Amino acid sequence: MANSQNISTLLHTDCCGCRACGDACPVSCISFKEDNEGFIYPIVDEASCIQCGKCVKICPEFNPSFNKVAEEVTAAYAVAEADRQAGSSGGIFGLVARHIINNGGKVWGAAFDSNLQLKHVCATTVAELKPLMRSKYLQSDTSGCFRQIAGDLKAGILTLFCGTPCQCNALRNYTGNCDNLFLIDLICHGVPSQDLFDKSIKWLEEREHCHVTKFAFRSKYKGALHPQAFSYECTKNGRTETVNGLHYQFPFYFGFQKYITLRPSCYTCKWASSERCGDITLGDFWGIERIDPTLDPKAGVSEILANTDKGRNLLNAITESGVAWTQRFQYRQLVGNNGCLQEPTKLKPERVELFEDLRTKSFDEVVRSHLVSKRRWIFDMYYAMPGVLRKMIRKVMDKRMKYE
Ligand SMILES: Cc1cc2nc3c(=O)[nH]c(=O)nc-3n(C[C@H](O)[C@H](O)[C@H](O)COP(=O)(O)OP(=O)(O)OC[C@H]3O[C@@H](n4cnc5c(N)ncnc54)[C@H](O)[C@@H]3O)c2cc1C
Repeated sequence: MANSQNISTLLHTDCCGCRACGDACPVSCISFKEDNEGFIYPIVDEASCIQCGKCVKICPEFNPSFNKVAEEVTAAYAVAEADRQAGSSGGIFGLVARHIINNGGKVWGAAFDSNLQLKHVCATTVAELKPLMRSKYLQSDTSGCFRQIAGDLKAGILTLFCGTPCQCNALRNYTGNCDNLFLIDLICHGVPSQDLFDKSIKWLEEREHCHVTKFAFRSKYKGALHPQAFSYECTKNGRTETVNGLHYQFPFYFGFQKYITLRPSCYTCKWASSERCGDITLGDFWGIERIDPTLDPKAGVSEILANTDKGRNLLNAITESGVAWTQRFQYRQLVGNNGCLQEPTKLKPERVELFEDLRTKSFDEVVRSHLVSKRRWIFDMYYAMPGVLRKMIRKVMDKRMKYE
């Protein structure tokens, strides 16, 4: 732990933007401000700071903590088609969340508000869970959550929190280990900013002469085999329509898939490792069809690590009631199948160029230089092909990359 008395000593490149320090400060001297890349950072009003050190104590970057490496990896998906459709991969988050709510608990997750601002919110009924489902590929605003959750835990309320590993670690530092708190950390390769998402939505609205009211990443209109699919709802000429697309047709999603728009700390993430901080870890089980050819990968399959006894018991509660199909593997059999369990995303030189251009050029120019494909026709052709052909091409490309 650092000797520092407040969070201002945390390096800009290390701050993960969890905002727990703001909730922890007893004199409210920490506010948050966007930097010139559009990411949010804490600012300490040194004149009001009482040097209590609470912000440093709960900061996950100063105080990361990890569980023992899980021995087993489970592949699973919700048996009910609607449950599977509701999630990004196998819909496991939804099943666990429903179990908590049915047992009188509260569930926290990321949801868009009516202005498409991503915030961590609380669901207390099954109906309220819907906006929390599915991955949203930008940083969510967690301010206020930590304080509220700590109060609920003290009152004995069963609580489930699902978020990025840094957010989960921040919450555990804030509340300490509590029997009634369950943490689900996501396998995460990083988060872009709300600011870049806002700019991309505005760009889309201007181009399509519409007003976007809803946006969904990982839309399953093409099946889970197309993890880069998205859908949005918009009003145009007084009518509401739904538009579907693939990542290369929306600048924000294209940049996310190129890994050039992430928060600086994501490129040195401490939690991109097999040691996790959540009771359960959830991710996508890429390549499951190679391990079990009988499985229909179109369903979307979740990769699950039970990192603590508490997490294992919670998973047993949902699997024993017959809601999830499961298959178990030894963790070491699967090492390497999911890169984000091994190491952080690599920083590419293009990230530096992109953010430099964002400062000096119009958004339209930035999109043309970095956030659309120069050879869009290749993507158009590729995605128009039948799935079997795409699979064959992917295999050849994989082999070539291995030998290059
Ligand atoms: C930014 C991000 C990057 C990811 N990167 C990878 C990856 O590289 N490899 C991989 O295997 N899996 C990754 N995932 C996880 C994956 O996309 C699925 O979320 C996970 O498999 C759970 O799917 P599900 O069907 O069980 O539940 P879902 O219904 O998809 O549940 C998703 C849960 O995540 C929460 N959530 C959604 N967006 C955010 C957000 N921005 N911040 C915090 N919490 C959020 C929701 O509230 C919900 O609780 C990532 C997720 C996110 C949010």
